Amino acid sequence: MTTPVLEIQNLTKHFAVGTLAKPSYVHALEDVSFKVNRGEVVAIVGESGSGKSTTVRLIARLMEPTRGEIIFKGQSILKTEPKGATLDYRSKVQMIFQDPFGSLNPIHTIGHHLERPLLIHKKAKNKKELQEKVETLLTTVGLNPAAEFAGKYPHQLSGGQRQRVAIARALTVDPEVILADEPISMLDVSIRMGVLNLMDKLKVDRGISYIYITHDIASARYIGDRTMVMYAGHMVEGAESTDLMQNPAHPYTKLLLSAVPNPHAGLGKQTHVEIPDAAKRAEIPSLIDLPPGCPFASRCPAVMSLCHKTMPAVTTLSAQHWVRCHLHTADESLPLPPPNPPRVSL
Ligand code: SF4
Repeated sequence: MTTPVLEIQNLTKHFAVGTLAKPSYVHALEDVSFKVNRGEVVAIVGESGSGKSTTVRLIARLMEPTRGEIIFKGQSILKTEPKGATLDYRSKVQMIFQDPFGSLNPIHTIGHHLERPLLIHKKAKNKKELQEKVETLLTTVGLNPAAEFAGKYPHQLSGGQRQRVAIARALTVDPEVILADEPISMLDVSIRMGVLNLMDKLKVDRGISYIYITHDIASARYIGDRTMVMYAGHMVEGAESTDLMQNPAHPYTKLLLSAVPNPHAGLGKQTHVEIPDAAKRAEIPSLIDLPPGCPFASRCPAVMSLCHKTMPAVTTLSAQHWVRCHLHTADESLPLPPPNPPRVSL
């Protein structure tokens, strides 16, 4: 069995709010654990405030976790680099942000944006090699003619082209993992597919792994090998993407799937689970002083009294499919289902 390229163990982040006299904490992330294998796309899906962006920002070392472990190729990053990530980790684990315009400096050319990391990480020996590498990168991400694009400024590019530049910039340092935080949510629908296909091609050609953050479960199904669902700072379900979409087990996953447009609607084929409107309209509860039990209890159409008392444990449904929901736990305190009625022969 190969070592995962990235392993996250019990990652937790609490933000202090309130006053010194009356401190309180936002529980943004609670005991999140998962693995990413080489050349694998792990999609993390959830609403705003579910903790998915906090997860990748912690992995990128843009902030320090309250507790937990980040293990990169078998090495604990928090132990070996306690004061922030080194250049080596930063080059191997790169991030693409949601807003491609905001992540580029409007006063510098595209060529400058790509030259900077190449120079900082000593990836080019001279000016000629620098220029060649910039043009190769632009060609790799489909920006042709490369020399022309290198001389342009961010405002001269479309949203999709700017996101391709952001991907090219991540590639300058030969990353092994790319953290893609909603990389297509600000792009026109017509160009989203092109960016996802580019990410997929880089996965195949270079063995790059991705953590793909999205609130759109349909794009997670498209690009994710595995998909994990987050709610109120907790991972609530995970499975291979196809399995998750076809056999969702957690009521929240079913709620997300119910929001995906259904091309079979009205054609006599029912592919989605009916979710009450009240559950669809409700929002994530406050992450300050979350009540005990399941965080989805206030919206769940299947809530039971146990759900308000105890956080459900992880239940394994198959080799790759797990869920945290009392509907799937074999808890002895739950009442047994009624026995099957005796068969009656007519
Ligand atoms: Fe709903 Fe209870 Fe399952 Fe939470 S544990 S999702 S409240 S049934």
